[in-house]
Amino acid sequence: METSTGDIFDVIIIGAGVMGSSTAYEASKAGLKTLLLEQFDFLHHRGSSHGESRTIRATYPQHHYYPLVIESYNLWQQAQAQAGYNVYFKAHHFDMGPRNDPTLLALIDNCRKHNIQHRLLRHDEVADKFSGRFNIPENWIGVYNSLGGVIKPSKAVAMFQTLAIKNGAVLKDNVEVIDIKRENENENEKGIVVFTASGEKFRGKKCVVTVGAWVRKLVKTVSGVDIPIQPVETNVMYWRVKEGHEGKFNIGGDFPTFASYGDFCVYGTPVLEYPGLVKVAFHGGDTCDPDKRKWGPGVMVDKLKEWVEERLGGMVDSSEAVVKQSCMYSMTVDEDFVIDFLGGDFGKAVVVGGGFSGHGFKMAPVIGKILTQLVVHGEANGVDLNHFRIRRFNTTTSEPLIN
Ligand SMILES: Cc1cc2nc3c(=O)[nH]c(=O)nc-3n(C[C@H](O)[C@H](O)[C@H](O)COP(=O)(O)OP(=O)(O)OC[C@H]3O[C@@H](n4cnc5c(N)ncnc54)[C@H](O)[C@@H]3O)c2cc1C
Repeated sequence: METSTGDIFDVIIIGAGVMGSSTAYEASKAGLKTLLLEQFDFLHHRGSSHGESRTIRATYPQHHYYPLVIESYNLWQQAQAQAGYNVYFKAHHFDMGPRNDPTLLALIDNCRKHNIQHRLLRHDEVADKFSGRFNIPENWIGVYNSLGGVIKPSKAVAMFQTLAIKNGAVLKDNVEVIDIKRENENENEKGIVVFTASGEKFRGKKCVVTVGAWVRKLVKTVSGVDIPIQPVETNVMYWRVKEGHEGKFNIGGDFPTFASYGDFCVYGTPVLEYPGLVKVAFHGGDTCDPDKRKWGPGVMVDKLKEWVEERLGGMVDSSEAVVKQSCMYSMTVDEDFVIDFLGGDFGKAVVVGGGFSGHGFKMAPVIGKILTQLVVHGEANGVDLNHFRIRRFNTTTSEPLIN
């Protein structure tokens, strides 16, 4: 059965992870008649935006993320003030790695360029600064700064959805979008029609596609354009702080959010969501098909155990992670986002926000704002989107999706 409401929305947003939800908030705040569609239940655990913690940090090896992160700090605080509860918890941030590691060196260079107050620490100074809670090899260095923090992801997505509803947006879950077509509403205005698996149709002037790990599949079905965004299954892991060291890794004290570079990248957050458990996880995972997940045990687990044992001063039990949660990244080759018009027959009517490559959450508020500006003005005020264009990829020679 095909049904269709008479409503024509200013914007239809597909995918209610953090990016779609922040866009729904921004679009509805801008006065747009907004519809947000989600294929599963709201706040489900099958995408990328669920869980208990995400790091926010300003130290990036690529210079173009700095202004986006700084604006996001402000936008997180504005949104949580409007909601009346906190989703952002302040912490310091600490990066570490071999002294000649290119990523670490680029990140330090950006600290200097952007005047981020930071301290470079030798291995003995690191031991001193953190009273033995970090232990790095002699040929490593550490970079310490005050611009870290933790965001509560599921709570943040719920916050954007609640604020969007308050602004008058319509939100619908368990609605899977299967196609988008261009429609001639009248001679002057071309709109779009969104088709769903249950036979419903929704009409809009513009559309934003924020479907996370499903973006390659949906965009290819809709337009034939093959954006090389690879879904990857990854795991968040929590490790128990040993007896006698309780409290030392808690948020609100001096234990920071952290990232460790070198042969492989590890990141973590202070104790916040589970008392006595510190999050330490591997940045990366196994390629996957988002519809046929393995829900695997995790990659590099042995390496991670070694890291916990050697780097956290023997104060955290490295024998086994006590809590494991599965999640997906949507990786691009250069780990830069995709924020662009779909183009072709769709011109500027369809905007894609995807490929957030395991580091997008912190910038969700500014991404929602940019996607809304692209819908309303056809450009983003003062933001250089060149790093995020679809045309940087070859989108015609399609590699097969993993089955
Ligand atoms: C373990 C882990 C740790 C991370 N840590 C950090 C961190 O510390 N800091 C940081 O900044 N970032 C981090 N990230 C990255 C960040 O969480 C993601 O970049 C972000 O959540 C991506 O959000 P999204 O909205 O693009 O995708 P999603 O959250 O997956 O949302 C997409 C939504 O679209 C829906 N959808 C898909 N297809 C359709 C369809 N056809 N019709 C309707 N709906 C559809 C999906 O069901 C889903 O709900 C981490 C990610 C993971 C997995």
